[in-house]
Amino acid sequence: MTMITHINLENSETEVYCCLRNRIIRLDDQHKHQFCAGCKMFRGEAGGRGVECRWDDPRNLPDPYVVTSPQDEWQSNQERKIQLHGMIDTTSQRTEETKAG
Ligand code: SF4
Repeated sequence: MTMITHINLENSETEVYCCLRNRIIRLDDQHKHQFCAGCKMFRGEAGGRGVECRWDDPRNLPDPYVVTSPQDEWQSNQERKIQLHGMIDTTSQRTEETKAG
């Protein structure tokens, strides 16, 4: 388990990547009240410049990790998920091969 604090700085359109929703969101009052307020990953408001979210991240990152591009961060997290799915697929394939003898 690698707990990393992600300091998500808002872009010019006040957007950040939200791990909970796995999407780029507008960091407005509605999102803050509806999602961040009850989110276990919430660690602060990045000095009023965004949101800090702490979660288990297997990528090789510094802690804290500053995110300036929500688009790049979203993309990077989709690639990570594909890799994880690939591992799951490989594991199930091995299981099937083992069953087949
Ligand atoms: S604190 Fe939770 S809900 Fe708010 S942006 Fe971070 S991951 Fe999303």
